[in-house]
Amino acid sequence: MNDSCVDPGLGRLLVEYECGLLSPGEAFRFEVHLLDCDACFRDLVQDTAVAAVLAHRLAARGGDPHSPAAAPVPGARS
Ligand SMILES: [Zn+2]
Repeated sequence: MNDSCVDPGLGRLLVEYECGLLSPGEAFRFEVHLLDCDACFRDLVQDTAVAAVLAHRLAARGGDPHSPAAAPVPGARS
């Protein structure tokens, strides 16, 4: 397994791809890149897992950041 991106010019698009900011053509090129690039594929899987955990936790709180279950923000006053 490679630990570094095989094509950093495409690998830099990872965040934009995750956020749905790429054009359809760019997204297709990035998806083809994912098939060849272990580093980007691994990063995508990890980021997707983190996003799923965050979405689950927010949903469990009803999506309200001010609910009692939300972690207190140091220094924040309401
Ligand atoms: Zn890559």
